[in-house]
Amino acid sequence: MLVAIAGLVIDLGSAYVQGSDNQNAADAAALAAGALLPASVGDEAQIQEIRDAVADYSARNGIPADCVEAVEMEDVAAGKYYGVRVRLRTEVTYGFGRIVGIEGTTVTKTAKVRVQPAADSTDVVPLGVEEGRLLEAIAAGDCQHVVIKFGGGGGEQGFFGALDLDGVQGGGAKDFVSWLTFGYDGVLSVGDELPVEPGNMSGPTTAAFTTRFSQCAHYAGEGGCNTAHFDPDCPRVVTLIVYAMTDTHNVRVKGFVPFILEGTDGNGEIVASKISVKTQEGESGGVIGGEGDYGVYRIRLVE
Ligand SMILES: [Zn+2]
Repeated sequence: MLVAIAGLVIDLGSAYVQGSDNQNAADAAALAAGALLPASVGDEAQIQEIRDAVADYSARNGIPADCVEAVEMEDVAAGKYYGVRVRLRTEVTYGFGRIVGIEGTTVTKTAKVRVQPAADSTDVVPLGVEEGRLLEAIAAGDCQHVVIKFGGGGGEQGFFGALDLDGVQGGGAKDFVSWLTFGYDGVLSVGDELPVEPGNMSGPTTAAFTTRFSQCAHYAGEGGCNTAHFDPDCPRVVTLIVYAMTDTHNVRVKGFVPFILEGTDGNGEIVASKISVKTQEGESGGVIGGEGDYGVYRIRLVE
């Protein structure tokens, strides 16, 4: 009897370890799924990609793919899923427990991930898009292969405006070119107020973006990073500020929008497409599918 009880303790211990392994694998699989969100409702190819990622990351973390009991798409907003719940189920067979007629147990663990709009960003470039114009472009499906043109005041209909990120007078074109080329060191947050950069920054922008475009060292033989496949840290990926004017010289940060540089249009103008970029680090805020949701996301393990 004592031997059976001691053995049962060992069995329960192994079930406990299995539970902990399942939880680790579920967390890793959910985070991998999160990197593929948001997913359009009805986009079966993307949803299958998410299921495959869950099976893959579960297996890589020691829980076979056939133990994935469920991958549930959740948190729908504006026609997209922003959340995924993963459930892993493992049967544990007891060694000693069977002596007293207890065959084993079932260990089930779940993890839930959600993507949320970023409330801050590092490495932004000193270019902004006015929020209303961005929303119009998104609604019209007009954010792919856009020419980076400036709205230089005076009624000119460009898409982008130059911003002074540190708000310090002076520095001007030198700071601007450095931020364009390497990204701004500091953290900018939704709600920050920034001055508009005076002067025509069209030339420096084209030059800096041409340099960035040529520096991609990924996907050799496939033309480097593009909308289909990119490294989020690639120089071709640029994070722009979404803003609202507060007066003629200042703007307020409303969010962040990532673009990938795609080369020139033949007239020396840079062409870029809107993408979405996700990281675990950084603050989140805003409303999924609403205000502040412009393509930079934070991946959060919420359960
Ligand atoms: Zn690249």
